[in-house]
Amino acid sequence: MIPKSLRIGGMLIGYYRLCPRKAWWSLRGIAMEQESDAVALGRLLDEASYGRSDKQLEIEAEAPDGTPLVGKIDRANLKHGVLHETKKGRSCEDAHRWQLRFYLWLLYRNGVTRPDGVPFSGQLDYPLLRRTEAIFLEAEHFIELENNVAAISSLAIQEIPPPVLTQRSFCAKCSFEELCLG
Ligand code: SF4
Repeated sequence: MIPKSLRIGGMLIGYYRLCPRKAWWSLRGIAMEQESDAVALGRLLDEASYGRSDKQLEIEAEAPDGTPLVGKIDRANLKHGVLHETKKGRSCEDAHRWQLRFYLWLLYRNGVTRPDGVPFSGQLDYPLLRRTEAIFLEAEHFIELENNVAAISSLAIQEIPPPVLTQRSFCAKCSFEELCLG
């Protein structure tokens, strides 16, 4: 059963891909200052590096199982059909890719394409590294995103947190480190 207040966003998908326990904390409304700072820094970088010619975009959709989904996209170039997500560094690049694929999926779920019918694509922007990465939503990503949404819905009603990551390289950079590891 889907919890009534659950709305799954791109950041939560990214957290889940990094560490289900991190997603579990976030589902309980716990956000460490460092996490909000990272989001604010991303916005600042975005504004400083790219100006305001593209548009911020908010989109809502439903997963195939009815779970409400929501996305807040840093910048969208609607004419060229490209969603941009700005990041500081590449240490969580797999989570970044899934966050952007999730936004592309929301557009797909709503039947939104470019004016010529071509699906939107994504671009991860790393202005501090002067790098970009193109992201596409491929057939194999659909089932993965559905599975991630279902897993996050289960986490939302799970009373105890998932185990601490065995591979701790992310924990040292995670704002929940003290909460998890004492
Ligand atoms: S400290 Fe480690 S186990 Fe805990 S939420 Fe962060 S990444 Fe996950």
